[in-house]
Amino acid sequence: MQYRSTRGAAPVLDFRGATLAGLASDGGLYVPTRWPVLTRDEIAALAGLDYVETAVRVMAPFTAGTLDEGALRALCTAAYGRFAHTAITPLAQLDAQHWLLELFHGPTLAFKDVALQLLGLMFERFLSGGDTHLTVIGATSGDTGSAAIDALAGRANIDIFMLHPLGRVSDVQRRQMTTVLAPNVHNIAVEGNFDDAQALVKAMFNTPDFAQRFSLGAVNSINWARLMAQIVYYFYAATRLGAPDRAIAFSVPTGNFGDVFAGYVAAQMGLPIARLIVATNVNDILHRALAQGDYSVGTLTPTAAPSMDIQVSSNFERLLFDLGGRDGAATAAQMAGFEATRAMSLSPVQRAGAALFHSDRIDADDMATAIRWAHETCGQIIDPHTAIGLAAARRAGLGDVPVVTLATAHPAKFRDAVERASGIRPALPARIGDLFAREERYARLPATLAAVTDFIAAHARARP
Ligand SMILES: *Cc1c(COP(=O)(O)O)cnc(C)c1O
Repeated sequence: MQYRSTRGAAPVLDFRGATLAGLASDGGLYVPTRWPVLTRDEIAALAGLDYVETAVRVMAPFTAGTLDEGALRALCTAAYGRFAHTAITPLAQLDAQHWLLELFHGPTLAFKDVALQLLGLMFERFLSGGDTHLTVIGATSGDTGSAAIDALAGRANIDIFMLHPLGRVSDVQRRQMTTVLAPNVHNIAVEGNFDDAQALVKAMFNTPDFAQRFSLGAVNSINWARLMAQIVYYFYAATRLGAPDRAIAFSVPTGNFGDVFAGYVAAQMGLPIARLIVATNVNDILHRALAQGDYSVGTLTPTAAPSMDIQVSSNFERLLFDLGGRDGAATAAQMAGFEATRAMSLSPVQRAGAALFHSDRIDADDMATAIRWAHETCGQIIDPHTAIGLAAARRAGLGDVPVVTLATAHPAKFRDAVERASGIRPALPARIGDLFAREERYARLPATLAAVTDFIAAHARARP
């Protein structure tokens, strides 16, 4: 499979190249040159397969030319061997129409493990045998940082530098990052907010000498391989619930539009998806875009679902590109307009093409009601992000179509918010039970480019 940039001006790369590059050199995002399609019989055959085998069948067309099926199977077996549930992403039935797809059984308790455990192994494989070092840098408001650190700790030829805003991630989230003491893991607490941390990372990628000297790599969802790994669980869940003979709807708590875009790809590959519900919190740029065609940046409101507190959803560009006739120059122009004015309108063609999506905006009261409903009616404790998905699912009015809400985080990860909404304090699962007894290590730095690049230069192993 070949990959091209949404902005049309970067080199076409194979799977290995696109995975190591992260962002395309023209500022766009890599997408496959075409969507592979699974036949109805191939989809029906998935119903009898376990998660790893489903993953191999779904991802093989995307990795073709870089990884054969045997290599892909070995990577998936290793990545998903660390999950605490043998089904990897089990379904839990809530009532006659609603299911939860539990994506939080990985090592760091959020769905990001599903993709990052695999990505970590792929990075290591792609770099093995050579003398190339990859320096992964990222900014996190919580879940991506811990998942990426867990996935990359101790891996050969890779250093990871993760920036988080000092004092602004939860204790559980911080400790999941800072108690990983592997020598290739470097946590940096930036004296600023998440936007400051994110801006520093962008500035480093946009400094060509620095980016080349340290071979910078990305682990956020601009990396195609992450989205690819997330397509799998849409197939896995839908085939367990009767696909391809019946269509399933999914409700997705959405921030950067990565997870729900993976559902869109599953639909392009032939999976019968009745509807994709894009559930946002009050930071509702995606709801406004899909409901009214108005993609304009508002002011950020911090909520109890911080992983969805976004201003700009990077992966939305992939959808605009695909719906706009896959015209790189047109996407580049549309994005340039957006970057200049912080606003854009979807074209009539893009709006018509987005008919698969339904969107909703869930406020703090609706979220708390959903947490209580799941507990009182179904005996399930859910986290604030999942609750936003479930609230949107319950009021989407989809008749009797089965609706699967993606449960994106374990409730213990956000136990203060869950307790405030429901009075119940979720316990930490046994696998991280000693988190508060572990030693922490991190550097505290001012939010300046010089401070951060000096630190990286002093600690990274990559050399020209
Ligand atoms: C990252 C995250 C989301 C948002 O996913 P996107 O792919 O960015 O849309 C939702 N819930 C949780 C718990 C997350 O960690």
